[in-house]
Amino acid sequence: MGKSDAGVKVPRVAAGHAILRRRGAHRAMKYADVLNDVLEAVRPVIGRGRIATYIPALAAVDPHRFGLALATVDGEVFGVGDCEVPFSIQSISKVFTLSLVLARDGESVWRRVGREPSGNPFNSLVQLEVEHGVPRNPFINAGALVVTDRLQALTGNARETLRAFLRAESGNPAVDFDTVVAASEAEYGHRNAALAHFMASYGNIENPVGSVLEAYFWQCSLAMSCTDLARAGLFLARHGLLADGSRLFSRSEAKRVNAVMLTCGTYDAAGEFAYRVGLPGKSGVGGGILAVVPGRCALCAWSPGLDEKGNSVAGVAALDHFTTLTGLSVF
Ligand code: GLU
Repeated sequence: MGKSDAGVKVPRVAAGHAILRRRGAHRAMKYADVLNDVLEAVRPVIGRGRIATYIPALAAVDPHRFGLALATVDGEVFGVGDCEVPFSIQSISKVFTLSLVLARDGESVWRRVGREPSGNPFNSLVQLEVEHGVPRNPFINAGALVVTDRLQALTGNARETLRAFLRAESGNPAVDFDTVVAASEAEYGHRNAALAHFMASYGNIENPVGSVLEAYFWQCSLAMSCTDLARAGLFLARHGLLADGSRLFSRSEAKRVNAVMLTCGTYDAAGEFAYRVGLPGKSGVGGGILAVVPGRCALCAWSPGLDEKGNSVAGVAALDHFTTLTGLSVF
């Protein structure tokens, strides 16, 4: 595990260039100073909330962890706290699988999954029945299973495609699955299995259900740090451009992924997240939240204590402070 010194600047960072001007404010701020201010502001809430306990591997995480990293479109990276400590990315993986499918398959995925907020818990079966096996959006579990199914069909190996993408975009070849988490997800994955089988009964799963579930459990088990995720999410801030300068998808598709993150990315609390933070964001039950400032930067906050909707208490607070301090929301 990494250390948790406050104000640690991530290596390979050029100092001092990332000055931003707060809208309506007279003083210039540096990202490094902003992140330190955010850390100090959220200290009192670090450890609040409840850790996800649906699998033992997540229940064992130290609730007092907190990390925050920011990667700019110019290639600078800043971080504070436990920003280098890998954690279980869980549902944050859904942003990347959706992006990979849109890049390969264009808009056709929207015939199989909607893009409206669900207003229901992320693993709800009820809505799926009412809506005849077509999930409300790609970030609830049912929708993510459809997306993973499509990625599996398009690539022959969804989990490997995802890992390779995340290694390339984060610049960290050590990004990998946590085999203990993956095994636990499978062991306790009855509800996800129910969702997948139910959708298969409507013809909305094209691969064998077992293979889709396996790929999904592996994608949830990926372990990455805040720094890794901030870097990996930069293609959404760069309007679709990848780390090597090539294009994953069009500017318009990047906008669409960001839009779905804003409206559906934080479980049944996307309205509250938009209200407080005002950025596209995707959270996971591991306590991570990836957020995007289009044209500027990507951020990742992590702290394992979750609120009643499943979002990191300190993570949301950190992003809330960040946009308040900087004025960098999309609104
Ligand atoms: N592996 C979890 C599940 O599918 C992911 C939950 C989440 O992060 O939202 O139940």
